[in-house]
Amino acid sequence: MEEELKERLFNRKENGWKSTNLEQREEIFSFSKKYMDFLNGAKTEREFIKKARKIADENGYKDIMEFETLKPGDKIYFVNREKSMYLGIIGSEAIENGLHIVGSHIDSPRLDLKPNPLYEDTGFAYLKTHYYGGIKKYQWTTIPLSMHGVIVKTNGEKIEINIGENEEDPIFTITDLLPHLAQEQMEKKLKNGIEGEDLNLLVGSIPYDDKNVSENVKLNILNILNQKYGITEADFTSSEIELVPAFKARSLGFDGSMIAAYGQDDKVCAYASLAAMMELENVKNTAICILSDKEEIGSMGNTGMESHMFDFFISEILNKLGVNKPNLLDKVFCFSKMLSSDVDAGFDPIYASVSDKHNAGFLGKGISVNKYTGARGKSGGSDANAEYVAWIRNMLEKNNVKYQVQELGKVDKGGGGTIAYILANKGVDVIDCGVSILSMHAPYEVTSKYDIYSAYRAYKAFWRE
Ligand code: MN
Ligand code: MN
Repeated sequence: MEEELKERLFNRKENGWKSTNLEQREEIFSFSKKYMDFLNGAKTEREFIKKARKIADENGYKDIMEFETLKPGDKIYFVNREKSMYLGIIGSEAIENGLHIVGSHIDSPRLDLKPNPLYEDTGFAYLKTHYYGGIKKYQWTTIPLSMHGVIVKTNGEKIEINIGENEEDPIFTITDLLPHLAQEQMEKKLKNGIEGEDLNLLVGSIPYDDKNVSENVKLNILNILNQKYGITEADFTSSEIELVPAFKARSLGFDGSMIAAYGQDDKVCAYASLAAMMELENVKNTAICILSDKEEIGSMGNTGMESHMFDFFISEILNKLGVNKPNLLDKVFCFSKMLSSDVDAGFDPIYASVSDKHNAGFLGKGISVNKYTGARGKSGGSDANAEYVAWIRNMLEKNNVKYQVQELGKVDKGGGGTIAYILANKGVDVIDCGVSILSMHAPYEVTSKYDIYSAYRAYKAFWRE
């Protein structure tokens, strides 16, 4: 009797795997396999966009610039400087009734090369780095790193770099001090154990074949790069080269229930939304998928969400639908709904003290919904209104998507943000809705396959609403 009452009244947050049958598990695992394969070839924002564009092309999407006019059912995209992208399907409903937007980011914490990176010290050649996003620096030493990016020469020629992903490739690494001599280092605070300025990448040790030249190890490296890519040292100044972990995405655990991979924040939500969008047809409200850049450093820059590029894309839709008029863009945003699809902190029992168990997200319990983010009294969060949360709950429940409503951590333990507030500022109803993750921003992040599949189903349901 009491059990029945409990069943009816309690907000039970059950493990999602419990209610899956064999067929559903196979579906979850096969979706996860596709995600891992994608991730292994998309470790940077440029690589992600390149692959996303190819997938979109294969699924009947076309660059919006190729359209003279648009009509319901048209599938469009816009690629912004090879680093961010918006996709859409024109809905049957008048566009002034609002868009349904799912927005994620595809940049992840990493190490970038400095503009003048190469130097030699005591027979070693190094590349200096400047870290990108919030990292715990000690995690980035003594792991295999691969090099990805572009070097653009003054004549406009663009050289793509990808070294360290193939088994035959060399990798790079940053050394750390042996414990035997680390007495002083070990006394330091964890955050000071490795200084940012010491994140120097070891890249060579053979001197150029001329004993009378100084810096001949550096010279030898430049000679190799010149022969292979036709570049000189100055060309580094117009490059964007990122160091990312050379690890592959792998299934984690005896049961293979989880995924360990680099860059899951936020490529996990980006991939889930992209996959969902590729299966959409005939939507009511115009469906928009945002793959944004620069979130990890504050969404600034013209490929970040703060840029007006997104307004331009939506204006282009309004123009090509032949409906544009003064202030229509504002009106469209005011009637729009959005899922800010970014990862959330998963409850980690080893570090339980930073989470409020009653309000934490657990791996395997479905997609994570955050009413608010922010820090110290919700500061900086956009805090979705109760009416919208109710609408989201109804949408998820109707479609049998398991979800959990949570917050990032205990009050005053820290905090974080997403792109949610940027769209909320335009008048859009926004809520954070993504996958919970362990070891966020580490070289190897952990997610649950169940949650990834839940996210994919949630995004699809949202767009179909
Ligand atoms: Mn994120
Ligand atoms: Mn992040």
